[in-house]
This record gives sequence, structure tokens and C-alpha cells, in this order.
Amino acid sequence: MAIIAFIGLGNMGGPMAANLVKAGHQVVAYDLAEASRHQAKADGATIAESAVAAVKGAEVVVTMLPAGKHVLSVWNEVVPAMTGGALIIDSSTIDVDSARQAHALAGQYGVLSIDAPVSGGTGGAKAATLTFMCGGDERAFSVARPVLEKMGKKIVHCGGAGAGQAAKICNNMILGISMIAVGEAFVLAEKLGLSHQALFDVASTSSGQCWSLTTYCPVPGPVPTSPANNDYKPGFATALMLKDLTLAQDAATASGAATPLGQHAQQIYQAFETAGNGGVDFSGIIKHVRGLTGK
Ligand code: NAD
Repeated sequence: MAIIAFIGLGNMGGPMAANLVKAGHQVVAYDLAEASRHQAKADGATIAESAVAAVKGAEVVVTMLPAGKHVLSVWNEVVPAMTGGALIIDSSTIDVDSARQAHALAGQYGVLSIDAPVSGGTGGAKAATLTFMCGGDERAFSVARPVLEKMGKKIVHCGGAGAGQAAKICNNMILGISMIAVGEAFVLAEKLGLSHQALFDVASTSSGQCWSLTTYCPVPGPVPTSPANNDYKPGFATALMLKDLTLAQDAATASGAATPLGQHAQQIYQAFETAGNGGVDFSGIIKHVRGLTGK
């Protein structure tokens, strides 16, 4: 089993590192936050004094950090301290441009690299059922795959450097838009005197069918496990959806893609967050949609 350094032990990274320990790997972990280091120790990881100390002698390094600036700052510190030929995986959700810069840095030091953002949330991180969307060359992917399989159940090689991040923001742009569409349909149904269950029964087996409706239904009742049945507790918080839609808009601007619905969705979630709902599940956007009618 490999020696794996894990940097960034928050809501996602903490349970992911714990799953690597459970799989029999020797995990050397580091986080700026003492509470996260403490939890990782309780989960069986060895705690390093710094990020650089964690990666010394590691065959694989995983980073799970908030945003591109944190990833570039940590990679700039740790990549020069890594063994040549070792692998570094970033599973944070970050902008495509920073991901490509991070790959280029690794290449300069003869270190293999993969961008591997995830979907599946904190539940998937705990249950080791995450989906990993990977970008990087074949060789790096073949070394990464067995490690990622200990933390997830679906591992997809999407293409070269940054392709994992590109897949993640495109997928989440569909999700953000489709949740608003489903919310609008339920609000219109309410105004027309059509019951939630009747709309669900028709749309879930018709051409309106989508994940936002059938797995994450934004009204209580039709899908008992959706956050709407639990006062819209996340799940996937509005602040994280807003982050991903903002990354999608930045990428659209940089690449010259026209994404008018993605842009409008970003503005709608922004308004919902500004009104104090950043910690509410993103399916709670239906409350904002209802509010827009003013009645
Ligand atoms: P989090 O804020 O809970 O954890 C981030 C951790 O990084 C924190 O513990 C923080 O102390 C640590 N950190 C920050 N800078 C550091 C540094 N320089 N050195 C060491 N540690 C540092 O965030 P999270 O929810 O675990 O999310 C991590 C990433 O995964 C984000 O990019 C997020 O967008 C993405 N993501 C999150 C979810 C989710 O449901 N939470 C789902 C999919 C993807």
C-alpha cells in the first residue's frame, strides 16, 4: 500500500482521507485548522507539521482545498519537495486556468498530475461513492485510478489537463439551471391549482424528467429523501452552487462561449445567497422563485 500525503481535511477532504486509511494506505495529513488535524489523527492518519513535511517521501499527494488560489499556493510549496515521478492529484473544484497552471508546475518538476474534482457531496465523501472527473495524461491517470477507487465508485478520464474541472463546471451549470426550471414549473403548477404530486407523476415519466426533479425534488412529498423534506438542509449548499456557476461564467467569458441561461442562473443564486441563504440547500431556490411573484 502507498504512502499518501493528504492536504486539506475539511468537510470533503477529512472523510476522503479517512477512507484511504481504511483501505490500508499510510496517510500523512496536513490542514491549517487544528480541529481538522485532530479529527484526521482520530481517523488514523499521521499528522505532519506542514504541507511540505507531509509530501516528503509520499508516492501520491492529494489536495482538497477551497479555491484555485489555495491550490496554486499549496502546489507551489509542495511540488518542489516531492519525489520525481510521484503523483499529485487535486480534487478541489477550481477554475480551469488555475488547474492548467498547476499541471504545468508539476510538469516542470517531473511530477505526474491529475485534476480530479468530485461530485457526490459530503455523503459521497463519507461513503466512498464519489464520482471523480479526471484531467491529465494516460500515465498519470493510470497511477491515480487505484487511489481514487478507494474514495469513489465512478472514475472518468475526461481528457488532458483541466478537462476534469471543465466537466465539473459544465455538469453543475446544467444542474443549477435545471433546478430553477423545476422550481418554476412547481410554482406555476401551484398557481394553476395542479398538485405537486400530479406534476411529479407526469413530468417524472415524461420529457421534463431530470435529476433535479426525480432525485432532488424541490418540494416536499414526491421524493422523500430530497432536502425539501428536511427544511432544505444541505445536501449541496447554495454557496457551493454559486461558486460553481461563477466558475462556469468565468470560463465562458474566457473561452468566448455564450451561456445566457448559465449567466441568469448565476444571478438568481447570487440574489438568494445575498438574502442570507448561502447555507440553504440549492433546491431551496424554489422559495426565491415563489418570492419573485410578489404574492
Ligand atoms: P472546507 O472549507 O470544509 O475544507 C477546506 C479545507 O482546506 C479546510 O479545512 C481548510 O482549513 C483547508 N485549507 C485551506 N487552505 C489550506 C492550506 N494552505 N493548507 C492546508 N489546508 C488548507 O471545504 P470542502 O467542503 O471540504 O470543499 C473542498 C473542495 O471540494 C472545494 O473546492 C469545494 O468546492 C469542493 N466540493 C465540495 C463539495 C461539498 O459538498 N462540500 C462537493 C463537491 C466539491
